[in-house]
Amino acid sequence: MTSTKRDLGNGVDPRIAGGELIIDLDALKANYRALAQASHPARTAGVVKANAYGLGSDVVVQALLSEGCRDFFVAMPEEGLIVRQYADDARIFVLAGLVSKDVARLYAASDLTPVLNSLEDVAIWSAFCATVGELRPCALHVDTGMTRLGLTVPEALALAEDESRRGALNIVLVMSHLACADEPEHPLNQRQLESFQRVRDAFPHVESSLASSAGIFLGDDFHQSLTRPGIALYIGLPDVASQKPVVTLKARVVQVRAASAGEGVSYGSAVLVRDSILAVTSVGYADGYLRAGSGAGIPLRGVEAAGGGGFLHGRHVPVVGRVTMDLTIFDVTDVGGDRVQVGDQIELIGENIPIERVAKADGTIPYEILTSLGSRYHRRIIGAA
Ligand SMILES: *Cc1c(COP(=O)(O)O)cnc(C)c1O
Repeated sequence: MTSTKRDLGNGVDPRIAGGELIIDLDALKANYRALAQASHPARTAGVVKANAYGLGSDVVVQALLSEGCRDFFVAMPEEGLIVRQYADDARIFVLAGLVSKDVARLYAASDLTPVLNSLEDVAIWSAFCATVGELRPCALHVDTGMTRLGLTVPEALALAEDESRRGALNIVLVMSHLACADEPEHPLNQRQLESFQRVRDAFPHVESSLASSAGIFLGDDFHQSLTRPGIALYIGLPDVASQKPVVTLKARVVQVRAASAGEGVSYGSAVLVRDSILAVTSVGYADGYLRAGSGAGIPLRGVEAAGGGGFLHGRHVPVVGRVTMDLTIFDVTDVGGDRVQVGDQIELIGENIPIERVAKADGTIPYEILTSLGSRYHRRIIGAA
């Protein structure tokens, strides 16, 4: 493999990998541009936590930088250190907050901006700044209704009015997170916006941020000065989607076999209802192809799963029997047995199999599908970084 930018894979040899994960950077960049346009005049950050939702923060960060993105959000300090390798002069916000003064030192050493999530965080960071004699930047997270992380609204308002405590901090961003942004009619959205605006007004001249992907489409009031999309960069949203998917996932066929009606398939022996041609592929739940997507009629978690499926030679091919750790079996009878060969690739996610459909078959959301993607795929990057 060459080391050109186009070919930044993960090093798994494509000839022996069980599957292929294709990341289209042109599609990613088109999604960023559409989100930036929808957010305008607010600026648009890139949320690249969890290794850029499983796609690889190396290539994703470089692609977003080339589109002018200069603000990144990660969850953990370790992730921030990786992003810093690719982005010299960008702002990198770390959502996890602080746990100790040692962590504060680590943030400062790599110029990471902590998101302070509690009064304890506020105390640790201001003490740290006093020790080093420099008011280093931080963000303040306010809980307006998610009940997860952040100062309460009264705590934030009290901090704003307390000149000595506030003077011990260099707050560059005030932020909050919406609990129900994917339900536009949910009354909590408006309540969170109103609470957030009270806090924002108490911190004049400080940038503000409220909207993740879905929040961008709740209206201009939600944009504030910086939007924070994650998922919409990687899968689009109904309102914003590139023509092509960013993520395509394919499984390699390692065996094609004929089986008769009445024979049992995979663990638990799901009984075939017709004479079938089966394609065994070398992708399983250890690769993030979830067991919950096992074939129709397989009871999992006490419910009958509808079952997932792939796409091969112009046809939908259902998963048959249970998904196993390293192998998944597809019913390719309708493709025509002689057309299916060892080495063929069955599309698991992509143009013909939208990730939303995969998530539905698995009883989950696209976020979990992406962040579960395993490390055994050959990752191939297409488009320009
Ligand atoms: C994950 C996260 C985001 C991005 O959310 P998406 O729904 O993926 O756009 C934004 N803000 C915070 C605080 C997050 O934790």
